[in-house]
Amino acid sequence: MSLKLSAAAPAVPAEAQNGVWLADIETGETYAPFDEIRYTGEDGNLLEVRYAELPTFADFKGQGRGVWRYHAALPFRTGVTLPEGDTPLHKAPRIRDEIGINSLRVKHEGMNPTGSFKDRGMTVGVRVAKELGVDRLACASTGNTSAALAAYGARGGMETLVLLPAGKVASGKIAQAALHDARILEVDGNFDNCLDIVQDLAQKGEVYLLNSLNPFRLEGQKTIGIEILERFMAEEGVFPDRIVLPVGNAGNTSALYKAFRELVQSGALDPTEVPRLTGVQAAGAAPMVEAVEHGWDGIQRWESVETRATAIRIGNPVNAPKALPGIRETGGTAVDVSDDEITDAQQSLAKEGIGVEPASAASIAGLRKLRDRGVVDSTENVVCLTTGHLLKDTDEAFKAGGDPEPVANDTDAVLQHIGAK
Ligand SMILES: *Cc1c(COP(=O)(O)O)cnc(C)c1O
Repeated sequence: MSLKLSAAAPAVPAEAQNGVWLADIETGETYAPFDEIRYTGEDGNLLEVRYAELPTFADFKGQGRGVWRYHAALPFRTGVTLPEGDTPLHKAPRIRDEIGINSLRVKHEGMNPTGSFKDRGMTVGVRVAKELGVDRLACASTGNTSAALAAYGARGGMETLVLLPAGKVASGKIAQAALHDARILEVDGNFDNCLDIVQDLAQKGEVYLLNSLNPFRLEGQKTIGIEILERFMAEEGVFPDRIVLPVGNAGNTSALYKAFRELVQSGALDPTEVPRLTGVQAAGAAPMVEAVEHGWDGIQRWESVETRATAIRIGNPVNAPKALPGIRETGGTAVDVSDDEITDAQQSLAKEGIGVEPASAASIAGLRKLRDRGVVDSTENVVCLTTGHLLKDTDEAFKAGGDPEPVANDTDAVLQHIGAK
């Protein structure tokens, strides 16, 4: 298996530019990162960004807050920024007690500028686009990638094009893409079809692709993992045992694993201290769970997918070859949850004051299920990632929440309605 946690730091190839290069994760073939545009290796294999120098925790001290605090782990010192990162690591004591674990934190990525973690990837990805001198950016999206790309493209003064599955994107996300002035193309197909098309456009040189297939996106998203380690250690005095996260294209799973691998390679982190990466998918879109349960080396694409957690309504997670080793090498697992379990978890989070969109709640739903099954131990310190903000999907929030009660325009009538104390 490629991408070993304990692999030695790679030798610097001739293609490196400023100590950065791209490598094919299967063949090890290396490429210059900023000369020509390249998303995959020769056989369509995934690429990853590699560095001559790997970071230690000391490198981050005194470097400000947010994604660019971690520039020692990134290809540039700064980027097209709004700024992003530095998200809350909430306590959730009622859910912790109910689930029965030692500690639970919720890393709320919905608190990024456009309301999802995609911003962390875009601040780096759009910076790289500038370096490459491209003028038109594009992505396929279940919604949040398009919102983030539209905002960061606007910030960078670049044209953006987003391909969305018609009728399957929450309205808040389309509203963002529209107002930030992206051209929105609604495809009569699902997300995976949109990604096929935008990859074709990118191969033809028409657009610069900023889906998580673009390895630079994942560099920005690595900072979720580093931020969790730093904060959890500062506040709880240990590293978390496990990180539970929703899985769509498996970009975050890959990015967190890469962050931990690089810290292990630099000697900053002991392999035994790496949190168990635990992925959660909706039962109607669970090819990663299927692959983990069967011990497969790769996923089998699901042609038909359905879930109310539209952000993870994905049947062909393109980053699976990076994410599956991450789950296995860290001793993690993957689990699927029903839409009703997702809504229950969304309600539980809301009762702690944490407002998330459905896909985000999958992490809590998955943790609950794995604790019930005894896979997660009562002594564990766990971080659940919540990936997007409640206001992204107000339709689902209305359905999951209580109904407004009509009352007369009169204080006595209102008192009578609420039942005076
Ligand atoms: C993009 C997204 C996901 C899926 O993340 P991957 O990195 O593709 O696995 C999950 N939740 C939300 C809210 C998202 O926007």
